[in-house]
Amino acid sequence: MAKSPEVKLAVFGRAGVGKSALVVRFLTKRFIWEYDPTLESTYRHQANIDDEMVSMEILDTAGQEDQLQREGNMRWGDGFVLVYDITDRGSFEDVAPLRGMLDEVRRPKLAPVVLVGNKADLEHARQVATEEGERLAADMACAFYECSACAEHAGTGGGVAEAFYELCREVRRRRAVQ
Ligand code: GDP
Ligand code: MG
Repeated sequence: MAKSPEVKLAVFGRAGVGKSALVVRFLTKRFIWEYDPTLESTYRHQANIDDEMVSMEILDTAGQEDQLQREGNMRWGDGFVLVYDITDRGSFEDVAPLRGMLDEVRRPKLAPVVLVGNKADLEHARQVATEEGERLAADMACAFYECSACAEHAGTGGGVAEAFYELCREVRRRRAVQ
């Protein structure tokens, strides 16, 4: 098997969208209900993606960090998961400014991102249509997944793991052309 590159991924999005739940789902395939919303944690994980072992470091941001801390996190990462909650329109509206800030911090490069609409299991409470997510992702030229931290294949996306894997692939593609 090929070498093992280190890929640093950071998860961003308004507090409460399910960042911690998604990261824990990805790492343990389990759903854990309550996380300290103020906590910022990093995790290490290895996965075989397209026949290459990739070692990841994943930063689960708190979603309420100050400007300076957020900028530092945006500099730290190689790739970014931008998360909103399909039942919270405000969290969706937070995404474009986050992307704008990323562009600002990473200029002149465009940072690899994936867009994740979480809580797809809560269809009855949906405030953001799938098409809106797709349109935003098209605007940002990134992959889009609707998923749920509590049901592995809820929604249209290929599940939580696929979002992380695709981001790793995107980071790898960018490295290949640099
Ligand atoms: P964070 O602040 O973005 O890290 O959000 P958390 O991971 O702490 O989740 C916030 C709340 O949303 C918690 O009560 C979670 O149990 C809940 N939650 C997270 N993901 C999902 C999901 O996919 N579906 C549902 N129904 N609830 C979720
Ligand atoms: Mg959290």
